[in-house]
Amino acid sequence: MTAPHYVTVDPLFEEYVNTARPPEQIADGFTWTEGPVWLDGQLFFNDIPNKRMMRWSERTGVQVALGQSEFANGNTLDLNGQMVSCEHGGRRVLRRIDPQDPDAVEVVADSFEGKRLNSPNDVVVRSDGTIWFTDPPYGINSDIEGYPAESEIGGCYVFCATPDGTLHAVATDFDKPNGLAFSPDEKRLYVADSGAIKGASFPGIDYDLPHHIRMFDVDGTVLRNPRVFAVVAPGVPDGFRVDHEGVVWTSALDGIHCLSPDGALIGKIRLPQQTSNICFGGAAGHTMFITSSDKVYRVESTRRDAAHVLKDRERKPA
Ligand code: MG
Repeated sequence: MTAPHYVTVDPLFEEYVNTARPPEQIADGFTWTEGPVWLDGQLFFNDIPNKRMMRWSERTGVQVALGQSEFANGNTLDLNGQMVSCEHGGRRVLRRIDPQDPDAVEVVADSFEGKRLNSPNDVVVRSDGTIWFTDPPYGINSDIEGYPAESEIGGCYVFCATPDGTLHAVATDFDKPNGLAFSPDEKRLYVADSGAIKGASFPGIDYDLPHHIRMFDVDGTVLRNPRVFAVVAPGVPDGFRVDHEGVVWTSALDGIHCLSPDGALIGKIRLPQQTSNICFGGAAGHTMFITSSDKVYRVESTRRDAAHVLKDRERKPA
């Protein structure tokens, strides 16, 4: 029997998640958590409005990792296992050489055609080293998650930064592009559009505006054949991850929705507040860490991040 903490739509969900155990709250007392990423045996995540990055491990509990995070939001890892972060305050994407030193950073991108970016929100790295990120205005349209300012670009783009430093605007027709992730074979890119929320806070959702995940075919630094992968409700999709078999785990107002590679709802991890993101971590990479409003949860699963598939492939001798 499924516990009320979970909703099983397809029996597969019971194979994916240990539904006998409720989601376990591992951290509390923040304002708005985002950017979960597993690095060096610890979970790092941002408490965006309080301008700090936190870290958690079973052994040490919760500690402040960085007290001057400048409203940093989405985090991911690059090919060398270094953290790549979106920073609203500096309106840039950074590589953190030392995640606990605010000055140990390299700027990946801060402008496009001479104009400052809006406020990079979420980021993913492809196995060719290209860095893909979204640039909605959530960090410049109020003082909750950044410093109020006019958009210089005048749009909300999805960008791809190539290792030579060139920035490509790969999608320019989103309302508010948000989370993004590749399929396991990296032939598809998924990008959330959270246009239905009108500011940095919930509620206030206009369901006539986008609250879906779009899917593209990836051809080098060009995105082709855009289509809607799944409409997400209640709430909007913010951050999400794709697992090793192409199953999509997306945030929503009522927790995490599990979607098949065809976009069908398989099940839900139900949480009491708007959820912002999820990542895979833990010793074996099977633990789901979920940032949800002012709290962080974990759920045991049989899944792994799609990016691990490529890393495993690279490790195997030809
Ligand atoms: Mg986001």
